[in-house]
Amino acid sequence: MRKTTAWAVLLALLSLFTACSAPPSPSPTPSASTPVISGFLYADGQLTAIDDPENAEFWESELETLAGFGLPALLGVWAEDWNGEFVLQLPATLAEFQTLTGHGEGAQGVTLCDSSTGEQSIEAQARIYINPEPLELTHAYAGPLLLHELVHAASCSPQMKGPGWIKEGVAESITTEKYPDQSEPLLAVVKAYKQDNEVTALPGESGYENLALSWFAVQAAIKELGREPAYELLYKLADTSTPSEERLSELFGYYKRAFELMS
Ligand SMILES: [Zn+2]
Repeated sequence: MRKTTAWAVLLALLSLFTACSAPPSPSPTPSASTPVISGFLYADGQLTAIDDPENAEFWESELETLAGFGLPALLGVWAEDWNGEFVLQLPATLAEFQTLTGHGEGAQGVTLCDSSTGEQSIEAQARIYINPEPLELTHAYAGPLLLHELVHAASCSPQMKGPGWIKEGVAESITTEKYPDQSEPLLAVVKAYKQDNEVTALPGESGYENLALSWFAVQAAIKELGREPAYELLYKLADTSTPSEERLSELFGYYKRAFELMS
């Protein structure tokens, strides 16, 4: 089933946001123009609305691929409070992307969690904005990018108070489960890092290098603890402003060991 929805009205109702993978930015001012595209996925994986004649087919197929992954089961505890809904918006220009998200050209995608979903005609807890400019260069990475952002959307992780590396590392780990090719560039970055550095702390929070290290730290936790226990522990630590130091140092131990064992 498909339906057309008044996205402009939705947009006007957007209010308080926090941003993904960056310090909270000022609440963006809604753009005067109507968003070019919006996708909407129900909990049962049914795609309902796409509103962009030029790109509809491409995004429909990306969203259908994601739906086919069986997201709630894949995301486990990271989708515990998710009703299965999100809105995907593709601003037409970088300027519009910046206006809507408060993020510049360095961000490929941004997930914003709305703290007042009840006021909206569609109760999507999160909106994923895709930066149109880098996407034009490498359309092929749309699927991985979407899945990464969906982990943020499903967990509303922009609003979680714990360490940012956990949120990024988990989003990227779930992404490489479904898009294994994506682990190659990440691993290359970790290996390059190893040539010049010792691991003395858990990863930082910004930039591609930290994303790669965060992914590697989460991979190390999965290897030691198993997938589900690792994701559950990481969720607990990400979902509090006072994560257990003991558990974090345990994670650091796994990370350091994996780093040292890496050939
Ligand atoms: Zn992210």
